[in-house]
Amino acid sequence: MARVYNFTAGPAALPLPVLERAQAELLDVAGTGMSVMEMSHRSKEFQSILETAESGIRRLLGVTEDYAVLFLQGGASLQFAMVPMNLRRPGRSADYVDTGSWAAKALKEAKTTGPAAVVWSGKDGNYTRIPSAEELKFSADAEYVHICTNETIGGLRWAEIPQTTAPLVADMSSEIMSRTVDIGRFGLIYAGAQKNIGPSGLALVIVRKDLLERAPENVPIFLRYSTHAKEGSLYNTPNTWGVYMVKLICEWMDSIGGVPAMQKINERKAAALYEVIDSSDFWRCPVERESRSIMNVVWRLRSEQLEERFVAEAKKAGMVGLKGHRSVGGIRASIYNAVPMEAVEALASFMRAFEARNG
Ligand SMILES: *Cc1c(COP(=O)(O)O)cnc(C)c1O
Repeated sequence: MARVYNFTAGPAALPLPVLERAQAELLDVAGTGMSVMEMSHRSKEFQSILETAESGIRRLLGVTEDYAVLFLQGGASLQFAMVPMNLRRPGRSADYVDTGSWAAKALKEAKTTGPAAVVWSGKDGNYTRIPSAEELKFSADAEYVHICTNETIGGLRWAEIPQTTAPLVADMSSEIMSRTVDIGRFGLIYAGAQKNIGPSGLALVIVRKDLLERAPENVPIFLRYSTHAKEGSLYNTPNTWGVYMVKLICEWMDSIGGVPAMQKINERKAAALYEVIDSSDFWRCPVERESRSIMNVVWRLRSEQLEERFVAEAKKAGMVGLKGHRSVGGIRASIYNAVPMEAVEALASFMRAFEARNG
């Protein structure tokens, strides 16, 4: 078996123990004589898997009963549309902070169904920093404030979650469960599963229950959060395999020591890469220090040819997925929860050797 060191941005690396467990249970899960993909989503066995996945999320993230936990489809991208449809009532507007490609995409989708105000944009500065609290002037009557807590493409993140009066809505796709957050600060959190908590085809939504009833009457039944909350994420057939994988990942997270333990490991991993990047002019991280992501580390070399060579040689050395997003170029190492310290250490020493050869 030849497993690579996988730095892909998403779908991304999954913990090896989780894959091995899924493999062992593939033909017969929980003594049912069938795969989780072959069982009714209404069976008591699947019900139990779903409940365990939900309680795992609640336990690991500290989600209280004031919030509903939903497993939906359509990825984080459908949430770009569902959030404004459900939370922005007729004649009202919402605030968006434009910190990068994903925040911008959420904003663009919100504008298709109503007004949305950009309270701050990093676009002119090529998305290299998160605004300070003083720079943020939210609208007095905003229905909610939307942020993307970790910009997967730009490699920047909100170190501090902003204080808002309107409910705070956050796209946490590429950092959910990577660091501790106070869920009580948010009205709604969503995340595509395929970066930190499972396979693609599944989105996690954590929504404060009082917001469930906000949706105007013209919102299609399927697109209302209340529909899925009422039916316990079983309004229609969910991504049963995805829910099962979330359950396994939560159990693996528990075995590591939960989110605080994971955060320590993640900070060490990120520090190992930034240390190499900051050690010489050979590498250049475009993101301001305070805004640097601990999940997606991005950097440039002096030329695109050299970047291409870096990516190609890294691949030969068993490290894949390092090419930056096609929209920005450069190099990006996505070091999600499932990427072990060992992989990051291998990358850091490869970088040092590469610099010695090409510096
Ligand atoms: C990957 C990603 C998305 C898109 O997720 P899909 O599941 O493909 O819709 C949205 N936001 C962020 C921050 C992401 O990293």
